[in-house]
Amino acid sequence: MIGLWQCQGVPRSDAPPGPVRQGSLREWNLAVVLGRIAAADRPPSRAELAARTGLTRATVSAVVEDLLAGGLVREAEPTPRTGAGRPSRGLVLAADGPAGLGLEVNVDYLAACVVDLAGRVRHHSVLRADLRPVSPAEAVARLADLAAHARAEAAREGLTLAGAALAVPGLVDDAGLVRLAPNLGWRDVPVPALLAGHPPLTAHVDGVPPLVVDNEANLAALGELHAGPAVPASFLHVSGEVGIGAGIVLDGSLFRGARGWSGEIGHVPVRPDGRPCRCGARGCLETYAGQEAILAAAGLAGADLPADTATTRLAELAGAGDPAALHALADAGTALGVAVAGVVNLLDLDTVVLGGGYAPLAPWLRPPVLAEVSRRVLTAAWSPVTVRPAALGGAAAAVGGAGSVVRRILARPAGWLTRQP
Ligand SMILES: [Zn+2]
Repeated sequence: MIGLWQCQGVPRSDAPPGPVRQGSLREWNLAVVLGRIAAADRPPSRAELAARTGLTRATVSAVVEDLLAGGLVREAEPTPRTGAGRPSRGLVLAADGPAGLGLEVNVDYLAACVVDLAGRVRHHSVLRADLRPVSPAEAVARLADLAAHARAEAAREGLTLAGAALAVPGLVDDAGLVRLAPNLGWRDVPVPALLAGHPPLTAHVDGVPPLVVDNEANLAALGELHAGPAVPASFLHVSGEVGIGAGIVLDGSLFRGARGWSGEIGHVPVRPDGRPCRCGARGCLETYAGQEAILAAAGLAGADLPADTATTRLAELAGAGDPAALHALADAGTALGVAVAGVVNLLDLDTVVLGGGYAPLAPWLRPPVLAEVSRRVLTAAWSPVTVRPAALGGAAAAVGGAGSVVRRILARPAGWLTRQP
């Protein structure tokens, strides 16, 4: 298992139902009590929940019965009391309850993971393959196999998949249509329609799942947002793969833009008349700081290594002081810093997270990024910007997608309870 998000009260990106209306009181109470159980550092008793929520003991007991019956919480092992009376039984999020399925299609890998209600990663698998020569239908078929395996692993642990989120490296519209994924060569790919022939991803039998398709950088940023207590409420998360995407988190929520297509930092120009980019423009950031550009500059382009192996090799070379590797990373970091400084100037962010393939390269990318940010961000002189590697590394998009499914349940448990047979 990896990862355990720190629930801070009711999850930050999904507010509980509100304001309180006559018909929504039960929903509100369910969300408040479940949020308190999720946020507690030790299993709270019913009496403690009543004290913390301001609800009556009778109301808390009724709500807890609903949560127990719906499989969202379990009673913890009794804690012996030192004085007289019955031992108290605290409540914990169910380790055998609903779970989220996170999936990712990227240029050179497929990934699937299962995250339980407490934010623990219970299953994670990655299949390395260059998907550029593969049709979208074939990529989805391979993904369905990975999803079926994840579903079987979840079932083996007593988990029920409550939904799925699929991360893709491109522009996705509200209907799940991938308008453009330049590095995969996808244009107007109807992902939901392609999924229709793959029961592991669309059937509702065994609770499997309606599926949301989203941009990988957005889901990676959400994964980072819930990765730990030290994560600020506003930050820029930059994922460096073959393409470069950014997730912008403002006040604990993802900023998606007017049409949901924010964060295309890979196509921010850093040299207006520079190298031609796959998008048709020139001088885009990813032609200087994308994975392939860095590997080529370091002399590893022809090595024919899988991307993660190539990144590891690059880090080894840089660690050993190889001049070409160090030069490649310094140039990429400078280009990245120029683009990042523009975003920070515009949005007034104080933290930049280097994620995806950038995370293991952060020791070498961070100094030039910081140098450019310090030089170019107007406020940096008296309010420094933090640049740091992502907590979740390369797994962030699939983990973030799976986490978004279970956080929806935590925020609105009534929706889960009403769908129970
Ligand atoms: Zn471009």
